[in-house]
Amino acid sequence: MERILNYIGGTLTPPSSGQWLDDHAPATGRVFAQVPDSDASDVAEAVKAALAARPAWWSLGVQGRSRAMLRVADRIERDLERFAKAESLDNGKPVALAREVDIPRAVANLRFFATAILHQHTEAHLTDEVAINYTARTPVGVAGCISPWNLPLYLFTWKIAPALASGCTVVAKPSEITPYTAFLLAQVCIEEGFPPGVLNIVHGLGPRVGAAITQHPDIPAISFTGGTRTGAEIARTAAPMFKKLSLELGGKNPVLVFADCDREEMLTTTVRSSFRNQGEICLCGSRILVERSYYAEFRDAFVDRVKALRVGDPSDPGTDLGALVSEAHMEKVLAYVKLAREEGGRVLCGGERVTLKGDLAQGWYVAPTVIEGLGAHCRTNQEEIFGPVVTIQPFDSEEEALASANSTPYGLAAVVWTNDLKRAHRVADGLHSGIVWVNCWMERDLRTPFGGVKQSGVGREGGWEALKFFTEAKNVCVKR
Ligand code: NAD
Repeated sequence: MERILNYIGGTLTPPSSGQWLDDHAPATGRVFAQVPDSDASDVAEAVKAALAARPAWWSLGVQGRSRAMLRVADRIERDLERFAKAESLDNGKPVALAREVDIPRAVANLRFFATAILHQHTEAHLTDEVAINYTARTPVGVAGCISPWNLPLYLFTWKIAPALASGCTVVAKPSEITPYTAFLLAQVCIEEGFPPGVLNIVHGLGPRVGAAITQHPDIPAISFTGGTRTGAEIARTAAPMFKKLSLELGGKNPVLVFADCDREEMLTTTVRSSFRNQGEICLCGSRILVERSYYAEFRDAFVDRVKALRVGDPSDPGTDLGALVSEAHMEKVLAYVKLAREEGGRVLCGGERVTLKGDLAQGWYVAPTVIEGLGAHCRTNQEEIFGPVVTIQPFDSEEEALASANSTPYGLAAVVWTNDLKRAHRVADGLHSGIVWVNCWMERDLRTPFGGVKQSGVGREGGWEALKFFTEAKNVCVKR
């Protein structure tokens, strides 16, 4: 069986413990590889390598760093098919989705930050006739990057690319549930001559490897994407050490549908924003709020389309939803459907595990699920499910829609469907959310700040913000 290896100091290495974890293929439920069960000693080795590599990486300058990163991006693009299949095998998502979204966006992350540094400017201020103030930015040192399982390479590169571009060296940990494409990335780095020790990847469990990264005194900045509870745990450790922290956390995103919207476009996009990647995207809309005058028509049209989605073999181009990432996650999602029923919800479609034939019979598939009849404050509408489950609810006024949309502890993303321009601005303004999409979903411009408010995160990433995050600013004031 294939063994995934750590990537430390430019070399692929087994864990010092000699212990391994199983990596499952969600489509079949079978183990297909082993993952290092690393610990604090592997993290310590990685930090040593990252510290040693720092001066040379920094002295390459922006041109040199940019070229090194672009070589890796080009290579992933050339190997797109291999990466897409690996991502699907590890995560359960359709290969077509990995080919269309995950891997191209991973390439885009590397390219965006590798070229952004070429155009970064330094702020300078003439202070009357008295002085010139300029801001010097230097890389913060070794950056710790920790990523989740839902968009494995996409989010892994989203963390490491701005850190590397800023001149930091990195100790990174992908999710132990989906480590495979980070391993392929390590192989590509070696083959493309990426400088050893600049990027180090340590595989293993969160409470062991992730915690060791968070606690390490020589890692002054942590960039984390994952669950809100884990984010709180990381903050508890990192805050008293005065580390820089960027936390991109969970969500419970509302979709507000007004009767005056372009209904056809809204329906097509809302099916996508609900069930893409099996609903396992932090930006998926999970609470659909619909103006009452249009509610019944919406419900029937939406449920018809959801019923037509195909749950199936991730390698089949006709598949809309593949497998959920793990058995435990599938059980969690199904437990929420049970809870929704107990809370008085009516399941309009889905709500159960799907058993496929042959090799896929033990895979972790769940039918796309639509639930109605629940109020804004029940647990089903307050807690993150992170699977193919959405609720639909009618509203009578803009105020009610906003109150309902803003009622959860989260504030990651929201979608508004209306053709009334004034209302679009007004509602966008009233939503307490890091991102608001109007008449679209998942459109991304990497120059914009990204991230959530409330329990969806702190320390916005994206664009210049992300590059700045990985630096220390020093103001120099020179008398004229
Ligand atoms: P998770 O929090 O369980 O794990 C995320 C990463 O943190 C993994 O690599 C894990 O091993 C590690 N980890 C776990 N415990 C740790 C600890 N004590 N210290 C340090 N690291 C630790 O999240 P997940 O289940 O992998 O991902 C799903 C969650 O991620 C959802 O809540 C989803 O909304 C969120 N997410 C957010 C965004 C965003 O941009 N805001 C994007 C994608 C996913």
